[in-house]
Amino acid sequence: KMSEKELRDLKAELAEKFEAYKAQGLKLNMARGKPGAEQLALSMKMLDVLNSQSDMQTSDGLDCRNYGGPDGLPEMRELLAQMMGLQAENVLVGGNSSLNLMFDTVSCAMTHGLPGGKPWCLQADRKFLCPAPGYDRHFSVTEYFGFELITVPMLPTGPDMDMVERLVRSDASIKGIWCVPKYSNPTGITYSDETVRRFAALKPAAPDFRIFWDNAYCVHDLTDTPDVLLNLWDECRKNGTEDLPLFFASTSKITFPGAGIAALGASEKNLAVLRNHFRYQTIGPDKLNQMRHLAFLKDMNGVHAQMQKHRALIAPKFEVVEETFAEQLTGKGVAAWSKPNGGYFISVDVLDGCAKRTVALCKEAGVTLTGAGATYPYKKDPNDRNIRVAPTYPPKTEVKAAAELFCLCAQLAACEKLLQ
Ligand code: PLP
Repeated sequence: KMSEKELRDLKAELAEKFEAYKAQGLKLNMARGKPGAEQLALSMKMLDVLNSQSDMQTSDGLDCRNYGGPDGLPEMRELLAQMMGLQAENVLVGGNSSLNLMFDTVSCAMTHGLPGGKPWCLQADRKFLCPAPGYDRHFSVTEYFGFELITVPMLPTGPDMDMVERLVRSDASIKGIWCVPKYSNPTGITYSDETVRRFAALKPAAPDFRIFWDNAYCVHDLTDTPDVLLNLWDECRKNGTEDLPLFFASTSKITFPGAGIAALGASEKNLAVLRNHFRYQTIGPDKLNQMRHLAFLKDMNGVHAQMQKHRALIAPKFEVVEETFAEQLTGKGVAAWSKPNGGYFISVDVLDGCAKRTVALCKEAGVTLTGAGATYPYKKDPNDRNIRVAPTYPPKTEVKAAAELFCLCAQLAACEKLLQ
């Protein structure tokens, strides 16, 4: 609504402030969803629970120092099954990374196929559904394996299910969909009950279509009124569609990213194929790390207690960003942002055509953000609008400075755009 003169004056004012920021020589990073140093300190005691005096036998008599136990320790399977809302017999405990398990699952499907289908590599024009904004590393896995990535718009209730149903019903070359159903990366939304029910009731043309249900943030609440995700496994069992979903989760953001425990959950049929694949790949996971995690976290009460400590450290950082955005951007029509109840991200939509410029300006003044476009397949945001902000890693004082600079850059980019 501003006149050209008003815009020019504002731009000059903002540019001056921007130069002042640049002169401060900031070096802040809000690019990746990494826990901050204080969060990592929360798990240091886990390193004390296992030492040369520890009993290294599992409850069923396996020596954890040796090979074996490909499915994981029974207690670890039980704990992760509870976390994921599954039964222990449907869960395999993997290594240190759920992304690794997702990659290996796609790789297995590519070369050997999943129950009901031929190897995916024999499907020349294979496609994968990518709800966007979404997690860049998901998209990259299927891009790497030569899938055409199809963008499905993310709505406040989850992926656009009308589109998902229509596409998977009619096209057998669509082999799967990426989902982060709770506190979605980056929009922070949790899929509605209806969305989960529609997923469980999908009738894909491809018999080997799979829902990759990456519940990375299943216990990562930030408020006293956490979102509740309907249990897809229960819904699938009601519908007789147990073979549709593949479940993933890890303790990366409960204990140590890169040194946590990951798990995969699936139906008997799917597990048989994947277990066989993993049998060639490894003689068993790191059971000492599983012992460490069990001794430290103990049970779901232990997990929730640990997550409360994480929350105490990161909720204030989310609040700082939200307060700063509210203070500096409300009513200006240059940005809309998410207010998640959990997870690791705030998703910001700036003025169309301004995301790349906003990120570039932030970088110039010393604040690194996730690359604009990263939340879309092929890293191409069709509207150049979405920016993922990750407030957990920098200390709180730095988060404030970074959020202020972000607001400045979003406004400056908007002025430039409107004056073009
Ligand atoms: N899935 C999602 C949605 C994530 O956001 C992340 C990390 O940011 C991961 C998976 C990575 O998990 P892991 O450390 O278990 O490989």
